[in-house]
Amino acid sequence: MAEPTRVEQIRANLAVVREEIAAAAREAGRDPSEVTLIAVTKTYPASDVRILAELGVLDVGENRDQEAAPKAAATAGLGLRWHFIGQLQTNKAGSVAAYADFVHSVDRLRLVSALSKAAVRYDKELTCLVQVDLGNAEPMDANAARGGALPGEVPALADAIAEAPGLSLGGLMAVAPLGEEPGPAFARLHELALSLRSAHPSATMISAGMSGDLGEAVAAGATHVRIGSAILGIRR
Ligand SMILES: *Cc1c(COP(=O)(O)O)cnc(C)c1O
Repeated sequence: MAEPTRVEQIRANLAVVREEIAAAAREAGRDPSEVTLIAVTKTYPASDVRILAELGVLDVGENRDQEAAPKAAATAGLGLRWHFIGQLQTNKAGSVAAYADFVHSVDRLRLVSALSKAAVRYDKELTCLVQVDLGNAEPMDANAARGGALPGEVPALADAIAEAPGLSLGGLMAVAPLGEEPGPAFARLHELALSLRSAHPSATMISAGMSGDLGEAVAAGATHVRIGSAILGIRR
């Protein structure tokens, strides 16, 4: 039997992921259409992004500007929405704002002002999410490297984004902490999202769930899941 082509491979993986999302949504009494799939294309080439677009996946995520910028340029004109999901240095904010539609990883005030300046310069509206650190751990342990604001810092960051020219507040994003069940962590995120929504009713996005924990994330109310390896393969 011939090797499956890359298109066939990605199409088959996508079908599995979409069914997993739909099943988790149904089980939670949610409509599967409430959950947007973001394909995380880091380490994979622009040709894969083109295949995803052909298969109807227009939301793509990247975590490094050096890789995302040329990939976005190589796939311009396909109507893609780029989600920046990685830790972002302030001096890269201008570059990211040029191609990104969403920045999921806003975790400090300096980044808010840098993104705002850049969005105004490009005359665009950039949707920003506050990344929350869900870890229960000490600030100096390995979780700290995963980024995110502490839950207590969320309201001030959210207000700053909502007031910043060129930015709009999308909601919250988190990565499940290492060494803990993802379900309870995502439930804490959901609680934070509900209180955010009482202050900012239009901030409805909850970006949570990766290949290994998308079911738990959808059960806890995720509106956007960020899926890489389950669609494109294990990164080497
Ligand atoms: C890489 C990455 C993902 C996707 O992870 P997979 O396990 O490959 O699905 C999601 N979110 C963030 C922040 C990432 O860096």
